[in-house]
Parts: sequence; structure tokens; C-alpha cells
Amino acid sequence: MEYRDLGRTGKKASIIGLGCEHLDGKPYEQIRETIDAAIAGGVNILDVFMPGEEVRKNIRKALGSRLRDVMIQGHIGSTNVGQQYDISRDLPTVRKYFEDMLRIYDGYIDFGMMFFIDSEEGYKGVFETGFIDYVRGLKEKGDIGHIGFSAHNPVTAARVVNTGLVDVMLFSINMAFDLYPAEKHVLDSLEEGINPGLFHGIDPKRAELYRLCEQKGVGITVMKTLGAGKLLSAQHTPFGKPMTAAQCIHYALSRPAVASTLLGCQTAQQMQDALSYLSLDEAQRDYADILNTASKEFRGSCVYCNHCQPCPSEIDIAAVNKYLDIARLDPGHIPPSVKSHYQALAHQGDECIRCGSCEERCPFGVEIMENMAEADRLLG
Ligand code: SF4
Ligand code: SF4
Repeated sequence: MEYRDLGRTGKKASIIGLGCEHLDGKPYEQIRETIDAAIAGGVNILDVFMPGEEVRKNIRKALGSRLRDVMIQGHIGSTNVGQQYDISRDLPTVRKYFEDMLRIYDGYIDFGMMFFIDSEEGYKGVFETGFIDYVRGLKEKGDIGHIGFSAHNPVTAARVVNTGLVDVMLFSINMAFDLYPAEKHVLDSLEEGINPGLFHGIDPKRAELYRLCEQKGVGITVMKTLGAGKLLSAQHTPFGKPMTAAQCIHYALSRPAVASTLLGCQTAQQMQDALSYLSLDEAQRDYADILNTASKEFRGSCVYCNHCQPCPSEIDIAAVNKYLDIARLDPGHIPPSVKSHYQALAHQGDECIRCGSCEERCPFGVEIMENMAEADRLLG
């Protein structure tokens, strides 16, 4: 397993985690086997957004003495008042459900995630009511380790990140969603079918959100990595051909600030299949061709696909471009953490010998040699 820094939390998350949604309603034995397979594979982060008491208890029971070997994302405002998943901002209701969760998980949840902030109304319901005071109180009391939130809308999510109150963001990331305009509600596309007619290059609001998170030290965990399975399906794919799970995982993990993809496995076998990503090589993970056929509007922008490798100077070109893109957000105020991450790379932009071979391989026409020089100027 590979572990990555989860923003400024000081925690390291496994790059593959377990989203427990599909364990809801499953027999205890199946839940235990799935969690055993996850932990055996090195998974150390689980998302438990479900409000139901039975599934929460079954996951807790399956973890047993290993509870503190993993980190739990628990959601504040996730309820099932109407016998189905629901969002609540009503404090007594919110309290009841979250305090139930705290009780089941021995009084501590690593990441207290403010549930589903996706609109102006959702933002106000959290930040202009007692909701946020309740969440801050949980942090002050030590009931939660960090404040986070979940979202699908990049504009609202950027607003939340800019409050400076959150350390973690659970966001829906996959190639199809990234190609959708920011104003399109992506969850609708899972119901209606993903419409490739709306693809216009990677949406700038989404790209900016990921860079903003990196800049602010907010770690991203990913949901909907596989587009609810649609991206893998020959029938439903919006691209010329289905993606593989490895390509989807790799795409999400290549976005700035992403620490972990939380996959919605419901059996031990599915968990093991997801973990097989770890043993694949770059060519098997490469998503550049699919992206290139989806839209022609990428020219000049790095999509962090690694298609340009190998570099004779062993520069991780995608990583250099990623830090450069973050630096370009506000060149006069580059966060020290971004500079130190850049400087920690084994090989930096100044080692480019301008051989040009990467530019021949890049399908997206990125001016890599210029970027290496600029990265050195801004970050070296
Ligand atoms: S420079 Fe081109 S090939 Fe290299 S990671 Fe960026 S988009 Fe991919
Ligand atoms: S041009 Fe520079 S970055 Fe590109 S492959 Fe050659 S040395 Fe590496």
C-alpha cells in the first residue's frame, strides 16, 4: 500500500480506502470479510456516512480491536428520518445521529464531515446557523480529530475551503465529472446518463478547486471514482470505450491534493480487485488516450497523465506541472508547503536538459520545457 499526506492533518491515508455505503443492508459476515480484506491490504481509511444504526454497529463490530488502526470519516447531518438517506440541518436531529455514531465508535471520530454542502442554501444551513458552532464544539472537545465536509459542486466547495475551517474534503472526482461544466449537477448525470455532448475540456472550476485544496492544505478523499460503475460499462460509458477501474483510480489519484480514493466495495473479492491497482504498472494505469478522445480542448494544459515519461533526468514531469499550476494561482503568495513539496521532489525543473522527448510524447501539447524553467523560477 502507498500512503499519502492527508492535507495538513498530519495523518497519512492509504491511497485506496473503503467507502462503506454498499455494506448497508448486507449480512454481518459479508461486512466482516470485506473489512478484513481491506485491512489486510493496508487500507487505513473508511467512510461511514450511512445513518443506519445496524450498519454502523456491524462495521464497528467487524473492526473490533482494530478500530484505532484505521481512520473513520463520520458524517454530521446525515440522517434517515424518513427511512432513507437524508440531509438535516436541524440541530437536535443532527446531534442525535452524530452522537449515536460517537457512542458506537468509542467516543471518537477522526474526521467529522459536514454532510453534503452543495448549494447556496446548503452553505447557509451550515455556516449561518448553530450547525457550525456544534461542529467546532465537537473539535474543541476532542470528539472529532478534524473538521471536513462532503460535496459535489466545485463552486460551493471552494467557498467552504476558503472559510479556513476544514482540513478534509470528500469530493466526487472522475474523468467524466471533471469534463462537465461546473453548473451541471453531476449526481443527476448518474440517473440520466452521462452526456458527452457537454464535455468541454476539464472544467476550470473543478481544476481550480483541487489546486486551491493543495494550496490551503485541505486533503481530498474521493467518492464516485468509478462514476457509480458507469465509466466501466460498455453500455453506459460516455467515452469511445469503457475505462478500467485502474484508469479511474489513477485519474483521481493524479489530481492535486488527492490523498485517497474511497471505493464502494461490498465483498472481499471486490476489495481485492480494487487493491490490484497497486501491482499495475504505469502503462496499465495510463488514461491519456481516453481523455484525448473525449475532448480536444486540453491543448496546453497538463492533465497529470504521465504519458510524457520517461525523462532522461528522471523528472516527475506531472508532479512538477502540478505544483507549478498551484503556484500560478497566486504567484506572489505561494504557500511554503507547496514550495517544500516541490523541493522535496527527487529531481526538479532545473535538471531539464531540454531534450524535447517529453513534448513529442505529450498528447496534449504541453510546453513542458518552458514549464520546467518556470517551475524552477517560482518554486526552486
Ligand atoms: S505534460 Fe502532457 S503527457 Fe506529461 S503529464 Fe502533462 S499532460 Fe500528461
Ligand atoms: S525535455 Fe526536460 S523534462 Fe522533458 S524529457 Fe527532456 S529532460 Fe525531461
